[in-house]
Amino acid sequence: MKVYISADMEGITGLVDAEDVQPPGRDYERGRALMTEDVNAAVRGAYAAGATYVLVNDAHGPMRNLLPDLLDPRALLIKGRPKPMGMIEGLTPDFDAVVCIGFHSRAGTLGVLSHSFMGHEIEDIWLDDRPCGEIGLLHATATSYGVPLAALTGDNTACIEATQWDPAIHTYPVKQAKDRFAAQLVPVADSRSGIEQTIRTALTTLPTGPAPAPAAAEGNHPGPSKPVHQLTVRWQSASVASHLEAVPGVHKTDDRTVTTEGEMPHLYRLFNLYLRVATAVTSNPPYC
Ligand SMILES: [Zn+2]
Repeated sequence: MKVYISADMEGITGLVDAEDVQPPGRDYERGRALMTEDVNAAVRGAYAAGATYVLVNDAHGPMRNLLPDLLDPRALLIKGRPKPMGMIEGLTPDFDAVVCIGFHSRAGTLGVLSHSFMGHEIEDIWLDDRPCGEIGLLHATATSYGVPLAALTGDNTACIEATQWDPAIHTYPVKQAKDRFAAQLVPVADSRSGIEQTIRTALTTLPTGPAPAPAAAEGNHPGPSKPVHQLTVRWQSASVASHLEAVPGVHKTDDRTVTTEGEMPHLYRLFNLYLRVATAVTSNPPYC
């Protein structure tokens, strides 16, 4: 069994503030160790469930957060950026399951460190007219590969968001959000054992057959395996939308909003190109 782990940082055990998850934050170095241990718990769970290959993608901010010398040596690590597929770089159809560790809810929700891909620049994303964040886009893309999103850890709001996309996703909340920068924490040892057990259970009870595809945009005529999706992004800056309008197939619906249609996983790759453009245009490094 091949298992793919995407590791974000805002939803890691014990972390609640930008100081915990962004270099050179006061507690960032400690946060890196905590992130590595949450991933190690997931790797243990995967191997306990029968995994024979585990690939970890560091998916947060600089994408150089996980500490390779502290990472379970059974896991392979993708480190650094930029990567064309960003948070799911290296995911291919031959994996049996995707596991998300340390995830957070989308921009506009009252979750710990909630946002969508960039700190302030992205106000909203819609996938087929449905509000969407990092979890929803990842789920749609993994599904297009035929690989189920089997399990997700993060704060309680990230877990709820995941099960809204697919109730079959196993979740483990490592903290209960009190506000965007405050949470009631699960004790660290309990949290790691909860992550390990959740991943083990999710991977030993994987559904058989292809992952259910999210519904395509109304009015489209999708083929059986590659539905056409509509992706709409509302930016804080009109400048970003103006630049993106030059991309073939991308249209502005107002000064700050662009929309396009396409198949996954191409749409996910195109969205990562949006992020590169937005970063260059706004000269603000993406928060995430
Ligand atoms: Zn992140």
